[in-house]
Amino acid sequence: MSIAAGYTGRFAPSPTGPLHFGSLLAALASYLDARARNGRWLIRIEDLDPPREQPGASDQILKTLEHFGLHWDGEVVYQSHRLEHYAEIVQHLLDKKLAYRCRCSRSELKQRDALYSYDGYCLSTPPDPDAECAIRTRCSDNLLTFEDLIQGRQSWQHDTGRDDFIIFRRDGLFAYQLAVVVDDHAQGVTSVIRGSDLLDETFRQLQLQHHLGYPTPEYGHIPILLNRLGQKLSKQNLAPALITDQAVKQLWEALNLLGQNPDPSLQSASSTELLDWATTHWQRNCIPRTLAIRSSGS
Ligand SMILES: [Zn+2]
Repeated sequence: MSIAAGYTGRFAPSPTGPLHFGSLLAALASYLDARARNGRWLIRIEDLDPPREQPGASDQILKTLEHFGLHWDGEVVYQSHRLEHYAEIVQHLLDKKLAYRCRCSRSELKQRDALYSYDGYCLSTPPDPDAECAIRTRCSDNLLTFEDLIQGRQSWQHDTGRDDFIIFRRDGLFAYQLAVVVDDHAQGVTSVIRGSDLLDETFRQLQLQHHLGYPTPEYGHIPILLNRLGQKLSKQNLAPALITDQAVKQLWEALNLLGQNPDPSLQSASSTELLDWATTHWQRNCIPRTLAIRSSGS
């Protein structure tokens, strides 16, 4: 699939803590894929969940990206500034009967064994108008498929109703799925390169794009990184923050894990020289397909 009207990629971190090596891998892959195709590369801060956020983390993330030479285009978009827009889209989906109010609590869902596969209770028994509700969108396409740029053809088949998912939470927060789809569209994103831990989410995003009449970007999911214990490198697993005075060493290691085979002599280059080399020599088809790789470093 070729991109007719120019390439726009993005990196979209949540400010729940500093960037770690796993986030560098995703940032670098999306940056290089955009730059190698003369594309734009945008930053979006996904600050939709204040209780999980760490004060100052957004600024720290941006400083780290700059320090690593990963310079972005245009203004940084903050999802916390876009709540009115998300509310309009949710209302539109409700009006079109592509979403419905759901008053089921977590414990009720658990009791009915419907926590991970919804039972459609609120479709057949609509909640009282004044009940505090979440909003679910309908999964009406029984088969969703896409061609992943790295992982190949992906498909997801489901029973109508069972996979209806939350787009607005009972606690008043918009769900990640909704904000991501609305923002990728608003920012003209054509290509999403990110970690394979988000592979399954892509199908829900496809469904929302269909509901809203948005074009679907191309997607490429890079392997996620495991620590020495075989756990995903993440803030929850206390992955160490990137070390800014070792930017070149860490960029070099990330390029190596992305299958780009950088020459060892490049470890003494500057980060700008290393990124220039990597942009010129970027080969997306060399990224390993395996869904998880082990970090050789920290
Ligand atoms: Zn419900």
